[in-house]
Parts: sequence; structure tokens; C-alpha cells
Amino acid sequence: VAIEHEALGRGFRGELIQPGDAGYDDARAVFNARVDCRPAAVVRCAGTADVIAALALARRERLAVAVRGGGRHVAGYGTIDGGLVIDLGPMNDVRVDPAAGTVRLGGGARSRDVLVEAAVHGLAPVTGVVGHVGAGGLMLGGGVGWLSPRHGFACDNIVRLEVVGADGAVLDVSADSHPELFWAMRGAGPNFGVVSSLEVKLHPVPETVLSGDLVFHADRGPAVLRKLRDLAATCSEDLYFFVMYNRVESRPGLPDHLDGLPAQLRGEICLTVTLMHLGEPAVAERDVEVLRFDPAPDADLLGRASYLDLHLDQDDVYPSVRQYWAAEHVALSDGAIAEIDAVARDIEDQSITSIYPYTHAMSRRRGSDGSFACRDSDWDVSTLAMWTDPADDAARSEWAERISGGLRERGLVATGVYPNMVSRLGDERLREYFGDDAYGRLAELKRRYDPQNVFRRNANVVPAGQA
Ligand SMILES: Cc1cc2nc3c(=O)[nH]c(=O)nc-3n(C[C@H](O)[C@H](O)[C@H](O)COP(=O)(O)OP(=O)(O)OC[C@H]3O[C@@H](n4cnc5c(N)ncnc54)[C@H](O)[C@@H]3O)c2cc1C
Repeated sequence: VAIEHEALGRGFRGELIQPGDAGYDDARAVFNARVDCRPAAVVRCAGTADVIAALALARRERLAVAVRGGGRHVAGYGTIDGGLVIDLGPMNDVRVDPAAGTVRLGGGARSRDVLVEAAVHGLAPVTGVVGHVGAGGLMLGGGVGWLSPRHGFACDNIVRLEVVGADGAVLDVSADSHPELFWAMRGAGPNFGVVSSLEVKLHPVPETVLSGDLVFHADRGPAVLRKLRDLAATCSEDLYFFVMYNRVESRPGLPDHLDGLPAQLRGEICLTVTLMHLGEPAVAERDVEVLRFDPAPDADLLGRASYLDLHLDQDDVYPSVRQYWAAEHVALSDGAIAEIDAVARDIEDQSITSIYPYTHAMSRRRGSDGSFACRDSDWDVSTLAMWTDPADDAARSEWAERISGGLRERGLVATGVYPNMVSRLGDERLREYFGDDAYGRLAELKRRYDPQNVFRRNANVVPAGQA
């Protein structure tokens, strides 16, 4: 049954899109092309009042709700079969306060929106490495990025949130106002309401940074991983890096500098070390020198680039194709390296295995007290299967789970998994990730603020008493 536009009230300024409307297929799609949900309606909100109207409509019509920021979560949380999608996309306003060193961003702003505005002032937020990912979804669930060794996870940098609760009430959430919720929402954020805006800290970044890729043939994978393990334990917090097993050539839209890839690497499985160093040029060069020998990279594509370009360059590297992601936290022992190397080389299509360390401010709490819980981990190993042919769905998903399964079978994993980056996250793994005490505290807060579990299209904490 079609919903009348009037059902959203006279003040509604957004857009209501339903089955049969011209824009319906675009409006229901999320980044993971494998997710094929048909919502009853998509409400594209122009502001907080529209969010309140959409939630009221969902209550009246008894529609389940999905809240969409950038629509990037691989599990497809940003859409829902038969329910109401509250799409915050148009709420992407970004206001930098250079004197305070903070930014206020709309709940639907992308990382690139914030990076671009902050760059005007020589500042940057802690956010992910790809520009088109939703800043809100990333920050409320954790957020790992280039500045993390220095400034922690993105959620550690949240100062204040404007939250529309399940009952439509608007809450100002900060360390001083609703401190319990402030704790909960820096990690388990999507569980407690629609965040119409966030205020987060910004940090100075140099005009240019040493960045780019060192590409090794995958035969040297284990040696490179062992070297990175040592480097992560000793390097300065100005340096951050992640490493990917990938078939470089089959990944579309790679940054222009990869044009310099030598012919012998084309079509081969490679290990790409992507890095960024915030320090002075000479210091940065000295700190990464160790990665240039024994083994030497087959292609050295490091250079100086603006901090902003570093993110924008990545935008086309991750296409909107079919996806299934799995991950584990590990100590990068020789056993774990062997296990990862054996499966990660078995790559098809545009898939990658991405491996990154938790260093410095990421592993210490440094006064931050959010519910985000990856603090005791050493390394994250994420297998990101990406393909186009629906006939490959089962095989590619199975591959993505294979590293995880092997590591678990051999007892090589640490507890928990980063909920922002996995396709399947059962209740058991979520409890394991938060730990019993924190999960219990979150479940109590959930009972208080969202007893009907309206906000359940997420890494969901079940309200206490409803398990
Ligand atoms: C190409 C790519 C690169 C990535 N790189 C990184 C990276 O470098 N570092 C990293 O940490 N993660 C990274 N991620 C993972 C990313 O953190 C998650 O996908 C995140 O959930 C994206 O948020 P979104 O708003 O785009 O997604 P959505 O699917 O829209 O939202 C994700 C969840 O957050 C909720 N949500 C979103 N916005 C709001 C809001 N304003 N209020 C309340 N709830 C909200 C949604 O309901 C949903 O449950 C990457 C993902 C992709 C696809």
C-alpha cells in the first residue's frame, strides 16, 4: 500500500521514494551489489525534523527501520526488505571550527566531505582510508584510519552527538550530557538512535605526506609480513601502513601512480604495502627505509602527496560489486602468517586480503572510554571477497571465511572482530567482542533507550531481558 507524502507531515522537506517510483532501484541499492532488498519506502531526510517524521511514520505503520549513512556496511544494514529506510544522505553539511579544532558534520556526510572541508584549514579528522564511506557509520562503530596510531580510532575523537531516539526525542549526547549514552555510542552507536549530527576533533596534518605503495611479488609475502610485524612493534606513531594480497591488475580504478607497475607483476598476485608517514621528508624516508631491502620491493611507488589526495585516490579502487567480508584479530605469529599466506594467495577477481596493525593510540586507551572494544588486538586480518557474477556467490563467500576458519581452528585468533568490517556477525561474536561486562551494560542501556529494538539493522545489542 502506497504511503501518502502527507503521512510525513507538512514540514517534511525530504524525498519519499516507493516501489514504482522512477528512482526506486537507485534508492534501495547499497554499496554491496549482492544486497538486493526491497524496502516499503526510502525516506531521504533533509534534516532532523524529517528523521523524527520518518520514525513516527514507521511507528504508525509498524514498519521495521534501517538507518543509512553512506550505505557502505557490507552486511547491507543500510537497507531492509519490506521496511522503511531512513536515508541520511542529504544531511551532509560540514562546518569546521578551526579555532576549536573541531568539525560538525551531518549524519549522512561522507569521509570525503569532512576531509575536503578540514583540508582548507590544514586539518583532518580520524576517518577511514576511502573517501566515499559514510563518516557517521564509520565513526559510530569505531573507525580506523591513517591518523589512528597518533589519535586513536575515529570514535575516540567524537565530542558530541545529536541523537534522535526511538521515541522521536532529540538528545544532546556528550561527556556532560547523557554520559552513559556517550560511552555506549562510541562503538555501539547505531544501536541507540539516528545521529543527525556529530561533532568531532580535527588534527593538524602537513601539506604533503610520504605515501603510496611498495609492491612485492606474493612469493615474498611471509618475509614481508614478518618484517612488518617487527616494524609495527618499533615504528613511530607518525607511520601507519596496511598490506594487501591482491591481483593488482584486476582491480579497476587504481591510482594513477600504479601505472608505473613493472610488466612482470601484471596479472600476478602481489603483496602491496600501502603506507603514510606524517613526519618531515627526511625522517619519513629514514623510517620506511627498512622496507626497501631484504626483500626489496618489485615496485617502489612511494612519493609525496597531499593528505586529502591519499583518500580521494582510493575512491575508485573499491567498486560497488558483489561482496562478502570476513575478519579475525590475530597476533601475527609465524603460524598465523603461514596460514594467511596459504589462503590469501588463492585470490579470484577483485578480492583482497587486507592486514593491518593496531599500534600506539589504537592499543592504548589514552583516556578514551567508549564502548569500542578492539583495544587489545595486535593485527586485523580481513578477507574482502569482491566479484561480479552471481554464480560465484557461494565460492567467493566460502573463500572469505576460509582464512578466518583456518586461523580459528588452529587457535591463532584473539577475541573479537571489528564489527564494521564483517558480513556476518552473530550475537555470540558480538558478545565476545564487547566482553560480558560491557555487553551487559550496553544491553541495559538498550532496554532504557530502545526497548523495542527499533534500531536493529546493525551490529545489534539485544535489549536486556529479551535475549
Ligand atoms: C570501500 C570501503 C572502505 C572502508 N574502509 C574503512 C577504513 O579505512 N576504516 C574503517 O574503520 N572502516 C572502513 N570501512 C568499513 C566502514 O567503517 C563501514 O562500512 C561503515 O559501517 C560504513 O558506514 P556507512 O555510513 O557508509 O554505512 P551504512 O551501511 O549506511 O551504515 C552502517 C551502520 O551504521 C548505521 N549508521 C550510519 N550512519 C548513521 C547515523 N548517522 N546515525 C545512526 N546510525 C548510523 C547504520 O544504521 C548501519 O547500522 C570501509 C568500508 C568500505 C565499503
